[in-house]
Amino acid sequence: MAAERLQKLIARAGIASRRGAERLIAEGRVMLDGVVVRRRGVVADPRRQEIRVDGTRLRARRKPRRYLILNKPTGVLTTRSDPGRRPIVMDLVPPSARSLAPVGRLDGASSGLLLLTNDGDLAYRVTHPRFRVPKIYLATVRGLPGEAVLDRACRGIRVDGEGLRLDHAEVIARFPHRAEGRRRSRLRIRLLGGRNREIRRVLSVLGHPVLELHRTAIGNLEDTGLRPGRWRNLRPAEISGLRRAVGLEAARSPRTRPPARSRPAIGSRRTAASGSAAAPAPHSPFVVAMDGPAGSGKSSVARMVARRCGLGYFNTGASVRAVALAAMRQGADLDDPAVVRPFAFRVLLDPEGRVFLDGVDVSVAVRAPDVSRGASRVAVHAELREVLVERWRQAAGAGGVMEGRDIGTVVFPEAPVKVFLDARPEVRAARRSSDEGGRSVAAVASELERRDRTDSAREVAPLRQATDAHRLDTSDLTLEETVDRVVAIVDQARAGKPEPGPTH
Ligand code: C5P
Repeated sequence: MAAERLQKLIARAGIASRRGAERLIAEGRVMLDGVVVRRRGVVADPRRQEIRVDGTRLRARRKPRRYLILNKPTGVLTTRSDPGRRPIVMDLVPPSARSLAPVGRLDGASSGLLLLTNDGDLAYRVTHPRFRVPKIYLATVRGLPGEAVLDRACRGIRVDGEGLRLDHAEVIARFPHRAEGRRRSRLRIRLLGGRNREIRRVLSVLGHPVLELHRTAIGNLEDTGLRPGRWRNLRPAEISGLRRAVGLEAARSPRTRPPARSRPAIGSRRTAASGSAAAPAPHSPFVVAMDGPAGSGKSSVARMVARRCGLGYFNTGASVRAVALAAMRQGADLDDPAVVRPFAFRVLLDPEGRVFLDGVDVSVAVRAPDVSRGASRVAVHAELREVLVERWRQAAGAGGVMEGRDIGTVVFPEAPVKVFLDARPEVRAARRSSDEGGRSVAAVASELERRDRTDSAREVAPLRQATDAHRLDTSDLTLEETVDRVVAIVDQARAGKPEPGPTH
């Protein structure tokens, strides 16, 4: 093992997350060759050097990784030890799991899912906002927050000099008839980061203090069936799902995917063709799949539908483009799948429709015409799509509007709402030409025609309308009319979906 940063070595030994290890270093609890290290960024070689944390020597040997989730009750502290001897999460797990580290913060007054592991790399990525692992919470708050308040919470506010924001917040129940001063609401909140007591601080500043807070999901992990105070080991599929989501593992090949009980074969018919009669399974994400050719209006419509329905918006085309952009910047061969595939691990989508390459927002750069051409070229590679599809599924783990070419057929064949947008070729070309600053309509038309042909004719995940999708020809519709129609379809599908029940 070569020399590595101290915090990484400590995290790998399962003593703390990487951030926790940084704190240990800052607190002077780490010694290297007998000398206390407080500086950041010090590297060490565990084979040649002696690293001690709180006096105990770090073992260079890798311990088998272990992962468990606990449904933490309120009143129990998320810490590995408490000098005041108050109840801590370690009291609730078996002795063999007491060396694991809790991942992220869940304050004493809050309840719900807590991941514990000695996989330091995973712990670091699950908590770091850059990896955008969604955590879902149910919060009971005082009062009846309106749209403006939730909007502010999601746009972000400064509290004690720190920028805080919720990624998404929606009211799922109101209890307005109680005596004045005792009105309450229940909110469903998604966080991608998770600063110290972020939800409580944001809502309190906005006049709606949190009375109860319960975490129901961390990425693909959900608390179904786990009673308060109980724990269980993660299933292998959950571990690899989470590791894949943060780029620590490659995607499974489709051949090794277990026979999918819940995923019908591509193109198979759903019982409710409109998506309105059948409510999605209680824990499947509420996805609005929006497919169609370039220039059909998908991006504008998807963005506005997401906003009106309080959902995240994911632009999968942007991530294909970002792969092409990264490959082009490095002068890589776009036609070689083995060369192109690794770029997918550097690309992230966020629920605002943005795309990030190595953490940098490239949403504008990917719109360049040469990147469009590059995107169609890389999009044909099955090896690349495997990785992208897994990442798209993970991105929409908490639901959302997802646009692309194969969302309703491949990525979310069970989406409760599927829409296929189309428009006459001359209309699509005219729209794209004005988007692209007035490039000649004829030039844009022939390029669109070429891209449509490549996208529809490719072997893997071609552009195709799902048999149970709503087809909307937007040629003679305004943007608002199209959005109204899609929102009506979403509302209808939601009406068939049971409201989440109380958790306390
Ligand atoms: O939607 P957009 O035009 O940004 O997509 C760029 C290209 O990415 C498409 O032409 C298509 O080749 C590819 N793509 C894809 N699968 C998706 C989304 C986009 O193959 N789900």
